Amino acid sequence: MLVKTNLKDSKLYQAYLAKTPASALRFRRAQELFPSGVTHYGRHLRPYPLFVSRAKGSRKWDVDGNEYVDYFGGHGALILGHSHPAIVEAVQQQMARGTHYGAEHDLEIEWATLIREMVPGAETLRFTSSGTEATHLALRLARAHARKPKLIRFAGHFHGWHDHVAFGAQGPGINAPAGILKEVVEQVIVVEPNDVGTVERILAERNDIAALMLEPTGASFGRVPTGGETLRRLRELTTRHGVVLIFDEVVTGFRVSPGGAQSHYRVLPDLTTLAKVVAGGLPGALVTGRSDIFSSMDFGGDDEKTVDPAVPHQGTFNASPLSAAAGVAALGLLKDGAAISAANETAAKIRDGMNAVLRKRGASWCVYGEFSAVHIFTNPHRESITPRDILDGRVYWKTLKSGATPELVHKIRLGFLCQGVDVNGWPGGQTSAVHDGDDVDRTVVAFEEVLKQLAEEGDLD
Ligand code: PMP
Repeated sequence: MLVKTNLKDSKLYQAYLAKTPASALRFRRAQELFPSGVTHYGRHLRPYPLFVSRAKGSRKWDVDGNEYVDYFGGHGALILGHSHPAIVEAVQQQMARGTHYGAEHDLEIEWATLIREMVPGAETLRFTSSGTEATHLALRLARAHARKPKLIRFAGHFHGWHDHVAFGAQGPGINAPAGILKEVVEQVIVVEPNDVGTVERILAERNDIAALMLEPTGASFGRVPTGGETLRRLRELTTRHGVVLIFDEVVTGFRVSPGGAQSHYRVLPDLTTLAKVVAGGLPGALVTGRSDIFSSMDFGGDDEKTVDPAVPHQGTFNASPLSAAAGVAALGLLKDGAAISAANETAAKIRDGMNAVLRKRGASWCVYGEFSAVHIFTNPHRESITPRDILDGRVYWKTLKSGATPELVHKIRLGFLCQGVDVNGWPGGQTSAVHDGDDVDRTVVAFEEVLKQLAEEGDLD
């Protein structure tokens, strides 16, 4: 076996430096401005991230003018691709009519009505600006409703970065990031993903659980898959114990199906969080669910005396007219399911193409996922594992979630970028309805080349 080439000496790294000098220049300035020169944890890349100047459809172009097939997809928001004409038009029109009224408006009603028509569990809604805010609000509503303190979550499931969810989500460790009070951490019980037995035991033994929150297709859009049967058992348990079941559909909403994972699996949560696709690529999110749980947000009293809600909720950009305009345009295009099916079919073709390349090389890696997800599994223990094994839950979640070292992920990403493809750090990506056959072909050819180079550097069996 070859000795692994370290990142800096890697040909992939050197090729990236040669291809992206203008990004390097920007990065020097960015480092003076932002922690590690980036504006999002997930955009960190060594030696430096790509600086992009323009995007359209399935492609984006960096500041050197290089073109990339994009699977970051606006962190999953862009199921209709970059700058879909209908969304651009809707936002431009709204821009001229005002970006913020400091008042209620028609578009928010239209947006909410569409969401309610599409998502089975949507009764009452409250818009927020981000998915993080949505999961935060959902948790607060659940606690106010149940009058109990604790939250059960699954390790590896990501729900944003607020204090109650920012630990146990990224990788296998469940150490809380600095700055989070241990008193908050103590209110959250993190269970191994899909461990319904432990959830059952906790609910039977304790009477202080307000809510159970999970990503319904499993951690990171099915990187650690959770099937419908698990969802049904969790629904049954939470109903029996009066625990609020929260589906975090920030990624899966309007992506797994027009009604999200809850519609696909026919399991109704009590609360749902939505973001990303729902706002058509602009910032926007919401919590929706059972009206009785939202009653804590109602003002009380009468004409004589107003009583504050038990759960007051503000937010300058809640239901922003621009986001509402983009959201209405996007959901109108997604409603019949055709665009979602197109994205799913493309992802399946990419997974198949990449697996064929792996088989040809005799490599132990595999590419898996459902719906519009593409997950590259780098099989750290070189076991005999197929995509079916993973989907059927036969591979340990820690192996799936962080099997690849950060150095290997950097090499994979740099290798792809040098071949004109941008994948995220799962490693993998999400397809859109506008990725086409040419994108698929380029991606599979790029993967073949990346594997060849990784093999030369001792990173592939
Ligand atoms: N929940 C899930 C499942 C997510 O994937 C994300 C974002 N990746 C969030 C919540 C947080 O959303 P936001 O980035 O809009 O705060």
